Amino acid sequence: MVTELGYPAHEAKYLKRQKDGQQEEYVTLPPDKRARSSLEGVRDAYLHKRCGTVTGMREEIIRSYLDSPWLYPPNATFCCGCGRYVPFRHGEWIQTGGDIQSYFNRLHAQKPGLKAWGCSTLVSALPLTRGLILVAAATGGWG
Ligand SMILES: [Zn+2]
Repeated sequence: MVTELGYPAHEAKYLKRQKDGQQEEYVTLPPDKRARSSLEGVRDAYLHKRCGTVTGMREEIIRSYLDSPWLYPPNATFCCGCGRYVPFRHGEWIQTGGDIQSYFNRLHAQKPGLKAWGCSTLVSALPLTRGLILVAAATGGWG
C-alpha cells in the first residue's frame, strides 16, 4: 500500500533505472488479479531485430498483461540492447517468430472494454491506480 504522502518517494524508487536501462520496478496487477493459467508456450522473450538483442519478460509482467493487455503502453517495449523503449513492430518473439505488435493487437481485441488510453475511458473502465498514471505519463500514452 502506497499512501498519498509516500507516493513521490515510491515513484522515484521504481522509476530508477538499472544498469541495463530498465526501470527498477514496473506496474503489475496485484498477485491475486494476475492471470493464473500455465505459462507453457506463452511468449516471454523477444528479439529486437535492429540490434539483435533478446529481452526477457518477468513472470509478473506476463501474468499482468495476459489479464489486462492494456496495462502497458500499446506499441512499445523495452530493449535491453538499446537501453530504451522500441516499437513493437521492431520486435519478434523468440518462441514463435511472430511480431510483438500483432500479438498485442490480438490480446487487445480480446478485451477491448479494458482499453485504458484516454482519461475518461481509464476512469470509467478500470480501477484508477497511480501506477497506470505513471505508465501513461512516462510513455506519452495520454496523447
Ligand atoms: Zn535493441
